[in-house]
Order: sequence, then C-alpha cells, then structure tokens
Amino acid sequence: MTMKSRDVSLGDTTALRMPTVAIVGAGMSGICMAITLLDAGITDVTIYEKADEIGGTWRDNTYPGLSCDVPSRFYQYTFATNPGWTHLFSPGAEIQSYFAGVVESHQLRGRIRFGTEIVDARFTDDRWQLRTATGEVSVVDFLISATGILREPRYPNIKGLNDFAGATMHSARWDHTVDTAGRRVAVIGTGSTGVQLVCGLSGEVGRLALFQRSAQWVLPLPNPSYTALAAPVHRRLPVLDRLGYRGYRDVFEWFSKALVEPGWRRRAISQACRANLRTVRDPDLRRKLTPDYQPMCRRLVISAGFYRAMQRPDVELVTEAIDHVEARGIVTTDGRLHECDVIVLATGFDAHAFMRPMNLVGRDDSTIDELWADGPRAHLTVALPGFPNFFMLMGPHSPVGNYSLTAIAETQADHITAWIRRWRNGEFDSVAPKARATERFNAELRAALPNTVWATGCTSWYLGKDGLPELWPWSPDRHREVLEAQPIAGDYDLRVTAKTSPFGTDDAV
Ligand code: NAP
Repeated sequence: MTMKSRDVSLGDTTALRMPTVAIVGAGMSGICMAITLLDAGITDVTIYEKADEIGGTWRDNTYPGLSCDVPSRFYQYTFATNPGWTHLFSPGAEIQSYFAGVVESHQLRGRIRFGTEIVDARFTDDRWQLRTATGEVSVVDFLISATGILREPRYPNIKGLNDFAGATMHSARWDHTVDTAGRRVAVIGTGSTGVQLVCGLSGEVGRLALFQRSAQWVLPLPNPSYTALAAPVHRRLPVLDRLGYRGYRDVFEWFSKALVEPGWRRRAISQACRANLRTVRDPDLRRKLTPDYQPMCRRLVISAGFYRAMQRPDVELVTEAIDHVEARGIVTTDGRLHECDVIVLATGFDAHAFMRPMNLVGRDDSTIDELWADGPRAHLTVALPGFPNFFMLMGPHSPVGNYSLTAIAETQADHITAWIRRWRNGEFDSVAPKARATERFNAELRAALPNTVWATGCTSWYLGKDGLPELWPWSPDRHREVLEAQPIAGDYDLRVTAKTSPFGTDDAV
C-alpha cells in the first residue's frame, strides 16, 4: 500500500485549543474522516462502531459474486493507494482487507470503540452529549455521522416466509454455515446484488431460480484481472496510481453527466445496454428481461456475465409475482410451487435511514425526525440547521449514483475538517447552517432534479417519500467545487460564548 502524506500545513498548533471529535461508524467514510482529521493535527478523535470489526458494507456483505462495480484504482483513498489490486473490479473480500490495511497502517484501531452503539446524541451547552446502548455517557465538541447509506437490510413482507423449512438469509447477512453447493437456491431481487449473486451462484448450486419483480438494464463491462507484473510496477511507479485514479475519475465524471443531463452521453449508454440485452437469444426470455423504463433510471447494473448466467439450463427466471412461501418453497400467484432449499433475499436496504435509529437532538430540543418530517435534507449534503457542530458523510443528496464513494468521502471529510480547524483557531464555538440557506440549497436541488435520468419514471431506492430522487442532481465535479469553496459567511449561524470568545459573548458572527 502506498501512503502519501496530505498537503496540510499545520503551522504552530501548540497555542490552539484541541477539539474532541466523535465519529459514528468505522466503515469506508468513518476511516477516511478520522485519517483526514489526524493529518490536520486534530488528534482527539474516537470512532464508535457498533460491530466488532471495521469495514461497514464491506464487512457486512460477503455473498458469493460480490465485487465493487467501480474500478478499484478509483475506489480507494488517494492518500493510501494500493498497487496490488487483483482485478479491474476487485472482489468484496479484497476491498475489506484494503480498508483493514489502511486502519493498521494509520494505527486507527486504538481509536475505535468496537461493539459500542451510540443510541442518543444531544447538543447541550455547545457540546454533544453521547449515550451508548449500555448507558455510558461522553461529551465531545464535534459529532460526525459516518453511518453509511445501505446499512439497514430491507426484509420483504412475504406471507409465510417464516414457515420455510430450508435456510433463509438476506444478502447482507450471508450465512456461511449454509452449504449451497448442488442445492436448489431461490434469489429474490434483481438489483446490483441479485445480479452479482446470480453470477456468483450459477454453476455452483444445483438449480437457481431468480424471482424478478422488475427487470434491470445491464451494462456489460468485463472484469479482467491484473497481470503479476502490475503490482511491482505500480509499487515502483506510484505516479501510475495517480494517473489511473484521475483517468477513471474522468470516465466517471463523463458517465455522471449522462445521469444528470439529457443528451448524447445518455443515448450512448442506453444503446450499449440495449445491445447487451440483444445477446439474450431466446425472445421470450429477452422480453421478460426487458425493463419498462429508461436505462439508468435505477442504478445501472454493471455485469458482463448476467445474461450468460440467465441462459444456463440450470437457471430459471421467474416473473410471476410471489404469493406466499410455504415449507417446501415459494408459491407464485399462478399457483406454482417453486421448491427450493435456500432462499436468498436480495431485497435491498432502507436507504433513507441515514444515522437513525440513533436519536439526534439539536439546539432547542429539535429532533432529527422533526427536521426530516418531509424527508432527509441537508445543507451542501453535510450539515443540518439547528444541529451545530454536527456533520455527515454520505448525507442526503450526496452524489452516490454510480460514482466512487471514496472520492465523495474525501471531499466531505476535507470540508468538515476545514470547519473544525476554524473552531480550533477560536473563530467560533458552534457552527450550523441557517435554515434559510438550507432551504435555498434544497430548492435549487429540487429544481435540477427533473433533468436527471432518475426522474424519468421508475421506482428505486433513490426516491424519497415525495417521489423525488434523493441524489445530487449535478456532476460530482460540482459537488467538489461547492464543498471546496470558501463557505458563504451569511449562510451559517456561527456563535461564540463568553468562556472562549476573543470577540464577545454569545453573538452570531
Ligand atoms: P435494490 O437495488 O434495492 O434491489 C432490491 C431488489 O429486491 C429489487 O429488484 C426489488 O424489486 C426486489 N424486491 C424487494 N422487495 C421485494 C419483494 N417483496 N418481492 C420481490 N422482489 C422484491 O438492492 P440491492 O440489489 O441490494 O442494491 C442496492 C444498492 O447497493 C445498489 O443500487 C448499489 O448502489 C449497491 N450495490 C453496489 C454493488 C457494487 O458493486 N458496488 C453491489 C451490490 C449493491 P423492485 O425493483 O420491483 O422493487
């Protein structure tokens, strides 16, 4: 792993006050946040992690066929590039060990409180009071939520599921004690996970039935492995890592424009998906696999092997709706019993939970559920009005549509660190965006959403309860520009208190 130090000038920090910072979550974004703070000389950092291991989604998801559909040379931190990736899209286990390696090399483990769930956080006397599930209380200056987006598995409400005599598991809770080799496996769900599962399980299991409620568009990108020479060459020439990162970033910026602007890019990707669908030889199967919405309206599935797997004689596509489950298998509405030994629920996640069920209480006892009564909203994706000294990574409307989340996390972590450095310099005691600024930003977002492909008429986990996508409706480039720009002073409620103020007392500045 190549470690680069960040370009952060610390100057003489001895005279500065030291903030205490709590990060919730030791997944990809929590790790990024902690390292960014440490690099800026902010050392009183604790990560609270409710599980017993780091990694978040890469710890939880261990299903067969799992890989990241963003190239590994782009899905990695710029400050800890890995010359040794084995594939263009490396498998999940390799990504998990990458993050574990970053944690070790940055000596983060000692800062992580494993098995510790924060259930309640309250802003009191300009500080955050945190309470764990076991009742332990601690107080910090800054609270940062890095709890991930796709964290809470969504279990389908299917009648009789508990009556099934075989094994049932959610894709994000793979039970490795269940032997699927040679057995009859039913997969419910055709998102990115269901598609990867079909590729990972077909040929290994006895029979596979994929229960599809909605068809998906699939872009067939191959996943070549790197040659044995790639790692030593990258190790000797780290510039290749930087070039690779930038090259893929440009490609994904290009791709992202297809998502947020109608035009030739969108048409080109659509044609590639339609051409891929034409590789399905059986017209009846092809018809069943044809979506009734535009390519990319749902998160585009990347897979070179899905249609090949679906044409295997031991794989069946079931499009009749599920009626119920009984002891022997799944019964569809046409009365047919699909006997199986294992049911895999690839039914997705509650993507709108964000930091909840943690109870967040801001200034004047305002709660997160009250603030988000009409759906999750944030200022510039990272901060909330009425919740001072609180920040989020991967918050509402972060640009998560097929872009590298490590890149987004780095941008957000830099932005948050800049605010904490200002606190350290004594510029304020608490900062929160003003409600007016947050409303203005969200009004601009909503005005841009109709241009996006996600709003062209399909259902997906992208949509909030008002039916609008909860995604960034511009390019990821613009997200970077907005977060790297000097914050607009009038958009923030900056307060100082008598005990620390070089300026005065309890005033907005
Ligand atoms: P998903 O995209 O939300 O798909 C869930 C699937 O389950 C859908 O096909 C849905 O059908 C189906 N479903 C839900 N309830 C059902 C029910 N009661 N009966 C029948 N079908 C039901 O979830 P996901 O596949 O786990 O993917 C979620 C996200 O995770 C992806 O969009 C992606 O962002 C991320 N992911 C990424 C990778 C990667 O390589 N980077 C891999 C896996 C996942 P409907 O479509 O009809 O609702």
